[in-house]
Amino acid sequence: MQIFTCPSCGARDEREFHFSGELGKVRPNTTGEVNEEEWATYLHTQGNELGAVREVWMHMTCAELFVMERDSVTMEVLSTTPLRKDVS
Ligand SMILES: [Zn+2]
Repeated sequence: MQIFTCPSCGARDEREFHFSGELGKVRPNTTGEVNEEEWATYLHTQGNELGAVREVWMHMTCAELFVMERDSVTMEVLSTTPLRKDVS
């Protein structure tokens, strides 16, 4: 078991989190017709980089979406940063 840190809730069991995608992966514009090859690439292609990667994760308990930077080789979590902008 691995411990991930939610920016809102703190350290939690990895089973409470859901991988949402690689950071920077851009969804094709779906307001018009989408090329099948472009759509398939978006859905099924992952970078699978070795080393430090930045990914979007969700803590399913509180629905917080955040960026997790982790080492894909050692699985060490380097940082977690919320995606939301604080309004104050
Ligand atoms: Zn949370």
